[in-house]
Amino acid sequence: KKEEEKKEEKVVYQAPIITATEVKVNVSMPEVAERAAKTGADGVGLLRAEHMILGLGKHPKKILEEEGREALIEALMEGIRKVADAFYPRPVTYRTLDAPTDEFRGLEGGENEPIEHNPMLGWRGIRRGLDEPEILKCELEAIKRLREEGYKNIEVMIPLVTYVDEVRKFKEIAKEVGLELGKDIKFGVMVETPAAALIIEDLIKEGIDFVSLGTNDLTQYTLAIDRNNELVSKYYKEDHPAVLKLMKYVIETCKKNGVKTSICGQAGSRPHIVEKLIEWGIDSVSANIDAVDTIRRVVARTERKIILEHIRKK
Ligand code: PEP
Ligand code: MG
Repeated sequence: KKEEEKKEEKVVYQAPIITATEVKVNVSMPEVAERAAKTGADGVGLLRAEHMILGLGKHPKKILEEEGREALIEALMEGIRKVADAFYPRPVTYRTLDAPTDEFRGLEGGENEPIEHNPMLGWRGIRRGLDEPEILKCELEAIKRLREEGYKNIEVMIPLVTYVDEVRKFKEIAKEVGLELGKDIKFGVMVETPAAALIIEDLIKEGIDFVSLGTNDLTQYTLAIDRNNELVSKYYKEDHPAVLKLMKYVIETCKKNGVKTSICGQAGSRPHIVEKLIEWGIDSVSANIDAVDTIRRVVARTERKIILEHIRKK
């Protein structure tokens, strides 16, 4: 024990590394919020809703039926509040529910979930959110109430966007709940489909504040490789030239239009990809808890390299 105490004494103060590009952290469970906040991340680039909702063990529709709307709203508020509180005033980007049908089916009351041959190409993300807006409305209501409590650091992000119309409809639903996206609260879209990347100019026209590259899905949809299929995992590469090309196009197009860009897929935890993103001008990178420190250093090193190259050219 003495040895351990000695080790603790030896910890010396280290000046934080300052980077122009924000380095954020991904959070899937409110339970790790405190630990995530201690990494010194500039915010939460992705707060996933799945654990907060599926973690209740019961299908959210069953919760709505048996316990009522308030129960679901309160459960969500409790989870999101933990994260917003740990990070306040640093921004926390809440991504609305994005679970495939096979994950819903495992829950109590999930027997009636439709059976899909390929859930990853199916009824998930914003598609389901718009078809069954009851749950989405509870999520937006929870965010609205938390902002009224003073957690103005919460932002919202739409998963699996493919059509411009999905963004419009999402905004309408938010309005019904009393949230004016882009005015009361910052909102963004995830770029997870090649379609979203290729129509980025049209998505920008919908008044989004930011986009976030969801490279886990963007890779699977660009390469036609199921991210959960081990038989083809060796072909799954986030640095495939096609995926990189889409990312570069999105970053450059957003930059021209004054829209902030970020990444929250696994590629944001990979140094060699992050270096490229910084060179292309991404505004923020969101990494896994354990990668925040390394990514902060990679970002700092790459920024320094860019500045030096610029100075030498003069
Ligand atoms: C992604 O697709 O890159 C992403 C961050 O979302 P998820 O991993 O939850 O699908
Ligand atoms: Mg995704």
